[in-house]
Amino acid sequence: MSSNDLIFGINGPVVTIKETKSFSMNEMVHVGDAHLIGEVIGITDRFTTIQVYENTTGLRPGEPVFTTGHPMSVTLGPGILSNIYDGIERPLKLIEKKSGAFIEKGINIAALDDEKEWDVTILAKVGDKIVTGDVYATCPETSLILHKCMVPPGISGEVVTAAPSGKYRVNDTVVELRDELGKTHKLSLCHVWPIRQPRPFEKRIPIDRPLLTGQRVIDTLFPIAKGGTAAIPGGFGTGKTMTQHQLAKWCDADIIVYIGCGERGNEMTDVLMEFPELKDPRTGEPLMKRTVLIANTSDMPVAAREASIYTGITIAEYFRDMGYDVAVIADSTSRWAEALREMSGRLEEMPGEEGYPAYLSSRLAQFYERAGCVECLGSDGRRGSLTAIGAVSPPGGDTSEPVSQATMRIVKVFWGLDAGLAYARHFPAINWLNSYSLYLTNLKGWYDKTLGKEFLQHRERAMAVLQEESELQEIVKLVGQDSLSAPDRLTLETARMIREDFLQQNAFIDVDNYSTYNRQRFLLGIILKYDELCREALEIGADTGALFSIEARSRIGRAKSIAENEYEAAYKLILSDMTAQIESAKTGGDEL
Ligand code: ADP
Repeated sequence: MSSNDLIFGINGPVVTIKETKSFSMNEMVHVGDAHLIGEVIGITDRFTTIQVYENTTGLRPGEPVFTTGHPMSVTLGPGILSNIYDGIERPLKLIEKKSGAFIEKGINIAALDDEKEWDVTILAKVGDKIVTGDVYATCPETSLILHKCMVPPGISGEVVTAAPSGKYRVNDTVVELRDELGKTHKLSLCHVWPIRQPRPFEKRIPIDRPLLTGQRVIDTLFPIAKGGTAAIPGGFGTGKTMTQHQLAKWCDADIIVYIGCGERGNEMTDVLMEFPELKDPRTGEPLMKRTVLIANTSDMPVAAREASIYTGITIAEYFRDMGYDVAVIADSTSRWAEALREMSGRLEEMPGEEGYPAYLSSRLAQFYERAGCVECLGSDGRRGSLTAIGAVSPPGGDTSEPVSQATMRIVKVFWGLDAGLAYARHFPAINWLNSYSLYLTNLKGWYDKTLGKEFLQHRERAMAVLQEESELQEIVKLVGQDSLSAPDRLTLETARMIREDFLQQNAFIDVDNYSTYNRQRFLLGIILKYDELCREALEIGADTGALFSIEARSRIGRAKSIAENEYEAAYKLILSDMTAQIESAKTGGDEL
């Protein structure tokens, strides 16, 4: 590498070079004698501007800048899963081994372990005509995930050599293709892809399956679809991180990409310590076997934080292209937007609202737009999905600020965390009055078929009861509980049951931290049956006191802590006892 281009100015992570034509936009460069990694983000006839992904302390004007000729990219191949990367796909564990707790400047470590041998099955045969997206080799990346090596975008042709199945390293050539122009392409187990360019697919397909999370308030009231987008806004301490962790642990995606943008220093440490310990509930294997972590702590350079979102989503698209259901969880996009703001400030761009750059919403949209259900490239018609979930941490919990507002315009599911609920220890503190999911129509077919038509009817009824409760509470505040009619008192009681016995879910209690759809349906069904039977009883004059104090009522309260293998029988019993007890309360009411 040689360079005649010398640094002219340095402003934090922003470096400028004067009057050069050597660089192209978004090209990856090496900056200074230490070879810091950077990306070209602006070119005019006078200046070329570079953002540097490493700490620029000690860098001096006059030091050289080297071109690489390719855009800022990630390497995609086996070895990504179970790994922990920084914002530009440098493996943190290897870096730690090589340079200690602090990242050495200009350290050059390959994203994928190039020594490790994979057990590769070669699928392509000499003479086969294969196109972009075709799977030419597979290897078990972890015991949970089969890695599929796909012909990279833009390449197709006839297989001229194919290695036998066996043990190979990521950079070994296993297949050679000759394209129509007679050019030979060597295919190894990996390829590179620019992080800012969405990976291509055959076509988008309708979103029609829910992403099961096991969290009752999400699955039943505000579901997210596979391939959908969701935001979790909430002030400090309202449970964003807990909710994101619950999703990462429990959601039924095949692959999880968790992008942590350092909220507090220790938080990322918690993730890094906690995740490797977690077990996949479906297989009992370590969760890391289907997870990639991208970690940015607040002491890492802001530019790397800005890039981390793209690195994460590109990795997610790669697994989506293999035909997997992938979930990207970004915690938090506000920290990412702050990195954007800081960079924009240093570039002396015209600030928009609250100092964020004018392109804040388009950048956020670019991130969320990469979600979706697709038919992948390749001849086998594989289908994959990418679900994007972002936490937003508005200062002071006020969602009228630009990042929350821009996010809300883009995403289709909004889980609004509420400080009042968190304060009252109602967790998950997702406010049922202002949260929403726009996927109910997409998912109706799935619900009706899998859970029966009554599921969505129950959901609607539960939402109506909660809504009525908030209106009745206004009246109670003014004139007191006694002024309410018996049916209204029943509404308040049912709403309380929905809130306390159904929506509250404790992430720290093993039996409660995950609820199957069947269990959710059953539990909500019991509560609404209680409401229905009591309403009938009230009509013929039963006493609310007697109805509210039936013995089965307290068992409903404990129903969520019943062990998974016992709940069905127990719930059936609650239902029949409850029916009998309401029946006898009716008679009791008549006698009064
Ligand atoms: P944030 O990231 O919004 O600042 P956290 O996710 O750290 O908030 O949550 C704050 C606290 O709220 C947690 O330490 C925990 O005690 C409580 N909490 C949040 N969600 C739950 C939950 N689902 N179950 C039990 N406790 C919860």
